[in-house]
Amino acid sequence: MSEKRDYYEVLGVDKSADDKELKKAFRSMARKYHPDKNDSPDAEEIFKEIQEAYAVLSDSQKRANYDRFGHNMPGGSPFGPGGFQGFNINLDDILGGDFFSNIFGGSRRRTSQRQGHDILVRHQISLDTVLEGVEEEIEVDLPTSCDDCQGTGAKDGITEKCSECNGQGQVRVRQQIGPFVQDTVRPCPHCEGAGTYSKSRCKKCSGDGLKIESQTLRFRVPKGADDGTRLRMKGKGNPAPQGRGVSGDLFIELEIEPHPWFERNGMDLIMSLPLGYSDLALGATIKLPHIDQKDLVVKISAGTNSGDTVTLRGRGVPSSRGIGRGDVVILCKLHMPNKFDKETKSSLNSLKGKLDGDGDLIDRILDDAKDRRR
Ligand SMILES: [Zn+2]
Ligand SMILES: [Zn+2]
Repeated sequence: MSEKRDYYEVLGVDKSADDKELKKAFRSMARKYHPDKNDSPDAEEIFKEIQEAYAVLSDSQKRANYDRFGHNMPGGSPFGPGGFQGFNINLDDILGGDFFSNIFGGSRRRTSQRQGHDILVRHQISLDTVLEGVEEEIEVDLPTSCDDCQGTGAKDGITEKCSECNGQGQVRVRQQIGPFVQDTVRPCPHCEGAGTYSKSRCKKCSGDGLKIESQTLRFRVPKGADDGTRLRMKGKGNPAPQGRGVSGDLFIELEIEPHPWFERNGMDLIMSLPLGYSDLALGATIKLPHIDQKDLVVKISAGTNSGDTVTLRGRGVPSSRGIGRGDVVILCKLHMPNKFDKETKSSLNSLKGKLDGDGDLIDRILDDAKDRRR
């Protein structure tokens, strides 16, 4: 087994770091290594390491013990015999920031409230739908409570109070681990936290209490939505186990279809425009269809170089805050046909001197380098 890293080192903070510094360090590390955000195979392990470090250092008692004993605390891990198991933190919580009160130090009410799993649905939209924010309607198969047993999973919905936990659904476990006494509340193993159990299963749902039903969901694509934006529909996720507790949430993750020629950079749309030599040399006005149904009018001025850009202000994607739109940035490129016929070749040859301009080649190279380095 590899050596366990020092908690301060994991978070990249000084031994004297105060709560504020710890929180800040944790937040930025957690963002970086959250498995939803970081594809590297180590991310999950590192993320867990970061959580563990923060869980210890943010608790003054645990921190004092750690400062004194390091990882070799008498009695073993402060998290019990299994060691640290990690918290289930989702990325939105880290970005939103209110999870600190939920998970660390605050009330842990959630543990006693049974909740169904969240569901993630991906939905593709075209780029033009984010211009105004459009109503969308999708049909998805979602689990709901089984009608026959009201989600209990029991035959005819008849359940009995669990005798192990007296219907509480949870049991209190006291553990003595070295100098630490830990009181934890756990879901009752007999009734799996439901507080009730049944002798026979519902036939219709084979006891899982669920029915899969096609549902029509209506939602509004927010203006300026980006790829990966998640919309949350509270309570539309999995029903709570045995029909007791709160349903999970449904998240709709928006995937924006790639546009045939635009790339998106925040609120800006970027494209390249291959033009013939004469258009670049003499200037031209180009019209292109656009996502807002109004043609883009691109004015190429005479003497435009391949690599020059033209910016059309306010024709990009709207801000999600509702004010203004980004730009369309057009990269002009020289379009070079693969082949020229004989006649064109000879015409080009006769124009060669004029097209290339005068001046020494080395001078031109030097001028260009100067421009580039400016
Ligand atoms: Zn059922
Ligand atoms: Zn029970």
